[in-house]
Amino acid sequence: MHSQRAKSAMDTGLTCFERQVPVESVFRLGLPIAQALGEAGVGGPVIQQLMVGSVVAECVSCRLRVSGAELTEAALGLSAGAALTDKVERLRLGYCARRTCPSRYYLFKFADQSAVDWAAVWSRAQELASVAEEKKPRNSFPPEKLFALVARCFENPIKYALPLAVVVLIALVWFLRSGCRVPGISPKPRVFIVAPQPDQLSPSKTNATRSFITR
Ligand SMILES: [Zn+2]
Repeated sequence: MHSQRAKSAMDTGLTCFERQVPVESVFRLGLPIAQALGEAGVGGPVIQQLMVGSVVAECVSCRLRVSGAELTEAALGLSAGAALTDKVERLRLGYCARRTCPSRYYLFKFADQSAVDWAAVWSRAQELASVAEEKKPRNSFPPEKLFALVARCFENPIKYALPLAVVVLIALVWFLRSGCRVPGISPKPRVFIVAPQPDQLSPSKTNATRSFITR
């Protein structure tokens, strides 16, 4: 429903402000745009109207559109634990919402609204988005990106084999120097057993049977 209404408002040709962004930025900018409107003094119901009818992100290649409302609702739903639609999930992962489209860029389009300074809203939304990004835990490397990286290594083994071999070699040398044993590579440790003299019936604390391992 939202996309229908967004389309009709946008198709009137009154787009007054446009900004191209990498596809991976589309999802994280939706909510900050709504927040920036709020900061600019726009009331809640009007923000909702604007996000539905005056803000769209459009693929520069296949022209698929996602309304600002779809992006904000998805972002709010996600933080509440709701599942995303396929379309928005693909954007969140950094791909065009259309499965078959390899595009890397989207165009945010803002319809003419005399009461709204879209350039100011856009610049504030950028700030809010980067603050939100910094707040994310540093170790939150998305598993899907890790899988993509591994898959790429396998797709192009010659390009990645040498750096990978160097990394493995450095890790191995470091491991051996740190005194750890690598089965099949490190020499077996020698074991010395110091036993008490046969005439000593009760071994004391200092001459009890002990093992010494040398490397
Ligand atoms: Zn596309």
